[in-house]
Amino acid sequence: MKALVWHGPQDIRCDTVPDPQIEDGRDAIIKVTSCAICGSDLHLFHNFIPFMKPGDIVGHETMGEVVEVGGDNKNLKVGDRIVVPFTIFCGECEQCVRGNYSACERTNRNRAFADKLLGHAGSGAFGYSALTGAYPGGQAEYLRVPFADRTHIKVPDSLSDEQLLFLSDILPTGWQAAVQCDIEPTDTVAVWGCGPVGQMAIRSAILLGAEQVVAIDRFPERLSMAAAAGALTINYAEEKVIERLNELTGGKGPEKCIDAVGMEAHSGMLPAHLIDRAKQALMLETDRPHALREMIYACKPGGVLSVPGVYGGVSDMIPLGMLMNKGLTVRTGQTNVCRWTDDLLRMIEEGLIDPSFVITHTRPLEAGPEMYRTFQRKQDSCIKVVLKPEHMSQTRH
Ligand code: NAD
Ligand code: ZN
Ligand code: ZN
Repeated sequence: MKALVWHGPQDIRCDTVPDPQIEDGRDAIIKVTSCAICGSDLHLFHNFIPFMKPGDIVGHETMGEVVEVGGDNKNLKVGDRIVVPFTIFCGECEQCVRGNYSACERTNRNRAFADKLLGHAGSGAFGYSALTGAYPGGQAEYLRVPFADRTHIKVPDSLSDEQLLFLSDILPTGWQAAVQCDIEPTDTVAVWGCGPVGQMAIRSAILLGAEQVVAIDRFPERLSMAAAAGALTINYAEEKVIERLNELTGGKGPEKCIDAVGMEAHSGMLPAHLIDRAKQALMLETDRPHALREMIYACKPGGVLSVPGVYGGVSDMIPLGMLMNKGLTVRTGQTNVCRWTDDLLRMIEEGLIDPSFVITHTRPLEAGPEMYRTFQRKQDSCIKVVLKPEHMSQTRH
C-alpha cells in the first residue's frame, strides 16, 4: 500500500510499504477514506519529538471502513464506518475507567522505555514515535487499529467524512482545552494560536458560554476564521498582546488562557526567544515556550491556563514565581479523545458545530509530502489539509 513515511527532518515521502495485518484478536484493519495532517505532525517533521526512526508511518487523524476484524473483537464488523481516535485505549484499566484515555496503562507497548523517560508512561498513539508505542500511523491506504474493539468511533452514513474526521483529534482537543477552563458566563477566554486546534478551542469556548473569546495569531486568514466564529482578534505582529488583553478586560487580564501553539512558538526578537531558538537548535532545550510565558504574564490572578499545545521535553525560563504568586491553575494533556465523543458527535448531528469549516486543502495521499511543506510554511492560506488515498490496487496483500 501507499503510506506517508518519515525519513528524517523535513523528509516525509509517499512510499510503498507492506499492508498491515491483524496481529491481535482485538485489532481491526480499516481502509482509509480520509486522513489529515495535524500541527503535531509538524513537530515530527521538524524532528522536535525524539525517537522517530526512518521508516515510521506517520498520521493520527484517520477514518475509514473496516475491512478485517480480529477474532476477539465483538464490537466491530466488516463494513462499519469508523473514525479512529488518536489515543489508543483499552477501556478497562484504572485510567480508562476514569476516562483518562490518554493515560491508558495497557496500550503503550514501549511502556518500560516511556516509564523511564516520563516517570510514568502515557497511552499508545498512532504515528508518534517510540515514546507512544511506535504504532504505524494512518496517513496511509490502510491502518491497523490495535485495541479496536474500544479504540473506534462508529459514525453515521448521513454525515460526510469532512464533518466527522476531526472527531479523531482536533475537535475533542479544542473542546477538552475549553472544558478544562471551567468557563463561567463572565469569563474572557484568550486563545493563543489560531491553527486548527485554536479554531476548535475558540468555537468550543463560545459554545460553552464565555462572555468574550480573544484569538491571537499573526496570519490574517487564521484570524479571519476566528473572527467569523465571533472571536475578537489580536494580530501579535502588529499589536501588543498584553496591552490589548488588558484593554479588553478592564485591566484585569483574561480569566482563562489556552495555549494552542505548543513547542514551536514564534515571537519577535525578544531575548528569551533568541536564547530558546539557539538552545533548541543545539538540542539543549526541546521547547520554545513563548506563548506559555506570555499566558502566565497575561492571565488574571486565580485564573486557569489550559495547554493543549504539545511540548516535547524541557523548557527554560518558565516564570514559576509569577505562576505561583498569581495562584494560576495549569491543566494540560494529550486529549482523552473518546471521553468527549458522545457530546461532540451529537453536536455535529444537531448542526451546532460543523468542523469541516477548517479545511482549506483536499488532496490525494500522494501529494502528502508537498502538503506537509505547504502547511508548515502556511503557504496558499493553508490551515488544514485532508488527504484522500486513491486505492489504486483494490485488494490488500
Ligand atoms: P498549527 O501549527 O497550525 O497552529 C499553531 C498556530 O500558532 C499557528 O497559526 C501560529 O501562527 C500560531 N503561533 C505561533 N507562535 C505564536 C505566538 N507566539 N502567539 C500566538 N500564536 C502563535 O497547529 P495546530 O494543528 O493548530 O496545533 C496546535 C498545537 O496543538 C500543536 O502544538 C499541536 O501539537 C497541539 N496538539 C495537541 C493535541 C493534544 O492532544 N494535546 C492534539 C492536537 C494538536
Ligand atoms: Zn494531532
Ligand atoms: Zn486503558
